[in-house]
Amino acid sequence: MNKIILLGTGCPSPSHIRYGPSTLISYQETNLLIDAGSGVTQRLSEVGIKPSEINHILITHMHSDHVVDLYQLYISGWHTGRTEPFTIHGPTGLKAFFEKTLEAYNPELSLRKDWERRPNESGLNYLINEIDSTSVFTKDNIEVNKIDVDHYPVEPAFGYEINLDSTKVIYSGDTRYCKNLEKAALNADFLIHEVLVDLTLNKTRMTEETVTNITDYHTSPKEVGILAENAKVKKLILNHFVPPVFNEEELEREVKEHYSGEVVVGRDLLEINL
Ligand SMILES: [Zn+2]
Repeated sequence: MNKIILLGTGCPSPSHIRYGPSTLISYQETNLLIDAGSGVTQRLSEVGIKPSEINHILITHMHSDHVVDLYQLYISGWHTGRTEPFTIHGPTGLKAFFEKTLEAYNPELSLRKDWERRPNESGLNYLINEIDSTSVFTKDNIEVNKIDVDHYPVEPAFGYEINLDSTKVIYSGDTRYCKNLEKAALNADFLIHEVLVDLTLNKTRMTEETVTNITDYHTSPKEVGILAENAKVKKLILNHFVPPVFNEEELEREVKEHYSGEVVVGRDLLEINL
C-alpha cells in the first residue's frame, strides 16, 4: 500500500470533522507519520493501522496542536504490541517536552506496567532525534530531509522532503509564504501545504492583534497558489485549514487563480495513491 492518508486536516480549533494535524505516508513496508495532532490514534484505527505499526514520527514544530497526542501514540503503540523503540524526529525542544510528559505520567505508567505484565517492555523504549542537519534519515528506498520554514516566532519550524524512490513529496508544516520551501518543492510530485483560509475578528475571543498575528505566520490561499505554480508542483494537497469549516469550492477557485496544476482540498481520511 503506497499512499498518503490525511488523518487530521484541522488546526487547534476543536472539530469533529477535521481532527488535529496528522498525515500518514505509507510506502512499501514503512509507515511514516507527520505530526501527532488530537485524535491521531482514532483516525489510525479508522484506516486499519495500529499505532505499533508506525515506524517513524516526524514533528514539524512544537505548537501544541502538532504534538498533543504523542503520549497517546506512545502508549497505544505499546498496547498494540510495539517491540521497537518509539522513534520521533523533530526540532530542538522535542526531547525535553517528551521526557517531561513521561515524568508526569510516570506514577501511572509504573503501576500499569507492574500490573498488566505485558511481554513487550522494549516497546516503551524511545529514540528522539532532534534534527540538526538537512538529512533526517534514509531507510531502504526512503529518504527524508528537513526544510527550514518560517513560522516565526516558533523556531525552529520544519517542513519535510520525502523521497520515495523517484517520487518527491513535500510537506510544508506550518509556515508563512516561504521561498526556501518553494525552492525545495521544485518539480515535486505532491506538495501538502497548510492554508489560512480566513480569520474574522470575533471580539469575545480575539483582539485585532490576534487576527493580524495568526494571519501573519500562516499562508494565504493566493500565496499557496503562487508558491505551487512557481515550484511547478504536479499536485497540491491542502491541509491544516484555519478555520476548520469554510467554503471549500471558493478556496479551490481562489487557489486555482494562481496555480495551473491539480488542487486537492484535503479532508480527514482522504487517501492519495503514490
Ligand atoms: Zn503552528
